[in-house]
Amino acid sequence: MGKIQAIRGMNDILPDQSPVWQYVESTVRKVLAQYGYQEIRMPVVEQTDLFKRSIGEVTDIVEKEMYTFDDRNGDSLTLRPEGTAGCVRAAEQHGLLFNQTRRLWYAGPMFRHERPQKGRYRQFHQIGVECFGMVGPDIDAELLILTARLWQELGLSEHTRLEINSIGSSDARREFRAALVSYLSDYTDQLDDDSKRRLETNPLRILDSKDPRTQEILQGAPVLDQYLDDESREHFQALREMLDAAGVTYTVNTGLVRGLDYYGKTVFEWVTDSLGAQGTVCAGGRYDGLVEQLGGKPTVAVGFAMGLERLILLLETLDLIPASVNNDADVYVTAMGDSAVAPALKLAELLRNELPAATIISHCGGGSFKSQMKKADKSGAKYALVLGENEIASGTVGVKPLRTSDDQQDVELTTVASVLKNLLS
Ligand code: ATP
Ligand code: MG
Repeated sequence: MGKIQAIRGMNDILPDQSPVWQYVESTVRKVLAQYGYQEIRMPVVEQTDLFKRSIGEVTDIVEKEMYTFDDRNGDSLTLRPEGTAGCVRAAEQHGLLFNQTRRLWYAGPMFRHERPQKGRYRQFHQIGVECFGMVGPDIDAELLILTARLWQELGLSEHTRLEINSIGSSDARREFRAALVSYLSDYTDQLDDDSKRRLETNPLRILDSKDPRTQEILQGAPVLDQYLDDESREHFQALREMLDAAGVTYTVNTGLVRGLDYYGKTVFEWVTDSLGAQGTVCAGGRYDGLVEQLGGKPTVAVGFAMGLERLILLLETLDLIPASVNNDADVYVTAMGDSAVAPALKLAELLRNELPAATIISHCGGGSFKSQMKKADKSGAKYALVLGENEIASGTVGVKPLRTSDDQQDVELTTVASVLKNLLS
């Protein structure tokens, strides 16, 4: 029998990689905490209807990317392809939205049956942020200022750029849709197959088409901007002024519509040129109608999600992971001979009490001096502690530098913690 492999497009994150993930996640967490955002954790599985009703029936995600299955009761369930729908469901279900404002975030795996390639996977990870109950553009601006700060923290400011657009009210989009359909109808036979189909079902999605001929045809199409309602126009103008005042630079991309149905007014993407076609690292917008659409009281909302795989790929591509991000130990405690094992474990505990921030590895599993030293070296530790019969007899321990050519020094057991404290600081 062959060995069972992971599912295509679903990645294991191995110990070598996890420090990088922890670094990115903790940096994001830190920034979100600075702005008073609170974490919410939702299940990864929801009723299929939740996604159909929020993301929209005629979107890439719902048409062809969802992992949907019947559970044993015959209910149709779906592995979440994104977090907004579940977040709205949870917040509404637990009364977090009525008459209050909320700033929420979540992190975790999302599932989409797409063609796996660099920066595009079937299980991937997002950190998402959703804000509820704030009607003005100030909160839109805050989200973008927050992300700009995050790029600053990660060293990515020079490598990401912000594109923003307003896609207006649903009435404005309806008028624009009619104009777009009437324009595209003259080119029906030249459109790619998806776009042809969407002309009937969801014409705005055609603007997202990657097909070169379709894109060419779109050059002459009516522009959404001309159909914007006054309220959306004012909202967008005020947002632009706030971003200008905050020093967040952006370009207005009038072709930006986003691939999900629930957006209105502000939409945005942070893009990079360093990852090829999978260049969007963070994307979002306003979705004032979604809570009501899902059965809640009308509640305005705005949010974004960023893809962690892409963010990490970008940091690695640009060599921006700090050297301190690794699995290296600080101290490796050896035990030479059976009689040293228990004292070595005890010594390690003492060190963990005295040096709580240090990584202290106790050698386990026996072996020769040479093999223990080899493991000590491999652990990345800066110092090995050598503890054997002789040391125990004399109440000392050998402190052996592993990263310099300095000599081993024998230190009183009672002072080894303070010696190491100095050496490691
Ligand atoms: P794209 O245009 O690249 O397909 P999208 O519009 O489908 O992205 P969203 O649904 O807005 O993406 O998700 C937000 C972010 O999540 C994206 O900007 C990206 O960073 C990440 N993301 C989306 N799909 C994937 C995937 N299949 N694999 C890895 N990351 C993804
Ligand atoms: Mg997509």
